[in-house]
Amino acid sequence: MASHTKRKTKYIFVVGGVLSSVGKGIACASLGLLLKSRGYRVTILKFDPYINVDPGTMNPLQHGEVYVTDDGAETDLDLGHYERFLDVSMTRFNNATTGQIYYEVIQRERRGYYLGKTVQVIPHITDEIKRRMTYFDGEYDIVIIEIGGTVGDIESQPYLEAARQLTLERGRSACITILLAYVPFIRSAGELKTKPTQHAAKELMEFGIIPEIILCRTEHRIPKEVRTKIALFCNVAEDAVIELPDVETIYEVPIIMARRNLDTIVLRKLRLKAGELELDTWSRFVARIKNPRTTVEIALVGKYVSYHDSYKSIIEAFVHAGAINNCKVELRWINSEDVTSENVEELLGGIRGVLVAPGFGARGIEGKIAAIEYVRTRNIPFFGICLGMQCAVIEFARNVCGIADANSAEFKRTRHPVIHLMPDQERVEHKGGTMRLGAYPCALLAGTKAHRAYNQELIFERHRHRYELNNAYRSLLEEHGMVMSGVSPDNRLVEIIELKSHPWFVGVQFHPELKSRAVSGHPLFVHFVRAALRLKLNDEGTDDVQNPIE
Ligand code: GLN
Repeated sequence: MASHTKRKTKYIFVVGGVLSSVGKGIACASLGLLLKSRGYRVTILKFDPYINVDPGTMNPLQHGEVYVTDDGAETDLDLGHYERFLDVSMTRFNNATTGQIYYEVIQRERRGYYLGKTVQVIPHITDEIKRRMTYFDGEYDIVIIEIGGTVGDIESQPYLEAARQLTLERGRSACITILLAYVPFIRSAGELKTKPTQHAAKELMEFGIIPEIILCRTEHRIPKEVRTKIALFCNVAEDAVIELPDVETIYEVPIIMARRNLDTIVLRKLRLKAGELELDTWSRFVARIKNPRTTVEIALVGKYVSYHDSYKSIIEAFVHAGAINNCKVELRWINSEDVTSENVEELLGGIRGVLVAPGFGARGIEGKIAAIEYVRTRNIPFFGICLGMQCAVIEFARNVCGIADANSAEFKRTRHPVIHLMPDQERVEHKGGTMRLGAYPCALLAGTKAHRAYNQELIFERHRHRYELNNAYRSLLEEHGMVMSGVSPDNRLVEIIELKSHPWFVGVQFHPELKSRAVSGHPLFVHFVRAALRLKLNDEGTDDVQNPIE
C-alpha cells in the first residue's frame, strides 16, 4: 500500500491527437484502475470543450447517453466508464464544460469581482479551468484529467494552456501529459504511418506541453522500429511509446496497459512508489467475458438504436450481468418506431428477454407498448427503464384494466393520464438541469422480485425524469395485479412496478444501468439476465437451470 500521510496530489493530463473516438475515456479509466490497484487514491476529471452548460439538453444521437451522477449532474458518458472501472462514484465536479466555465466567469464579472479589469481568456478563463482542475487537490493522490477533443481544435486551446500553466506551477514531477494518438495502417503501402502522431506531438509542444508518454492506438501490432521512430521524432523515451491494439472487450485494456508497464512508467515519472499490482478479480471478470459458457438473446427496444452510444450504460450493464451469469448477452436492436402489433412477432420471435429503454417524446411510444404487450402475454422476461416503465403502466392500464385511452400526459391530452407530470415540475420553465435528477431513496416491498434482487430494504438509485405514475390510478392497477414493489419512503412516488403473475416483469422509474459496476454488476440486470437464461433453458428442455449460472 502506498502511504497516504503526505497527500500532494499529482496530475496526469490525457490529450488526444490525430483523431477522436479512439477511446480516450477508456484509456483514462483503465490507467485509473491500474493506479488504484497499486494502492493510490485516484479520480478522473473530464473537460469538454463545447459551449453547452452540460449534455443534458443535447440529443442522444449527437452526444450519446447523458450520464447522471449521485449528486444530480448531467454529465458526459465517459464518467460512466470512470465509475465502472474505478468503482468510485463521480460528482458534478468531475465534469466541466466550456459553457460552465464561461458562465462562472461571466457571472463573477457581473458581480463586480474583477474590479474593473478587462476579463480575458488568459488569465481569467484559464484560472477558472485550473480551479476546476485542482478542485480535488489534497483529497486524491492522483487526478487524471481527460481533455476532450483533439489537439489543434480551437476549442481545446484554453485547456492546454491551463495544463501548461499548472505543470509550470507544480513542476514536472507533479504533472505529466500523455498523448493518445492513432497510428493508421495504410493498406496500399502495407505500412503503419507515424506522421500524424509526430504532428500531434509537435502541435502539443507548440503549446509548451511536452508529452512524456505516447499511447498509440492501432489496429495492427506496432513493431519496435516504428516505436523507436515515434520516440525519436516526438522526443519521448522509447519505453514510453506504448502500443494499444484493438481488444475483444474494453475491460481488457487495463491488462494490456499493465503488460506494457504503463502504470510503472507513470508512477516513475510522478516520483511515486509502485506498490503491488492487484488485478486478480479484474482478470477473472475479463476471463468470464471472453469465455462465456452460453449466450442469451435480449432485445433492446428504443428510439435511438441507430447510435449505440445512446445506451452506453445499458450495454455495459449487460456485459457485467452476463459475466456474473457466465453468459454473453447478445443484443437484438429494435427501433421502437418500427414495431406494430402486426409485426411484433416477426421482430421479437425467439427472444428471451426485452428491455424497453428510457427516452423522451411521443415518437416510438406505440411500438414500445406493442412490444410490452407481446412479452407480458407470453411470459417473456421484461425490464422497463424510466420511459420503459411508464409504457408498461400505460399498456397494463389499457389492456388489463380496460382504460382504452390511458396514456402519459407527456404524449397526449387524455382523460386518463396514468403517467403525469410531478407537481414540482409544473412550474419549470428552463429545460436545462431541471428534471428530477440524481440519487433518491426507494423502499422495497418484502417478498417482491425487486426485493429478492437487491436483498435490501432501502436502496438509492439515480433519476432523470419529469413524469411519474399517477397515484389516482394506483389502486386500480394494484387490483388488477400490478405490484408497487418500490416506492419513495414517503410513499408519494412509485419507483418500481412488477407483475405478480409473470416470471419476471419489472419496471423502474430510475436508471439502474448508471450504477452497474464492472466486477459487481447491478442486481436488477443480474436477475433479469438470469430470468432470460432460465427461459432459454426451459425452451431447450434443460431443467438444470443452475448449471450455466453458478
Ligand atoms: N420522458 C419521461 C419523463 O420525463 C422518461 C424519462 C426517461 O426515460 N429518462 O418522465
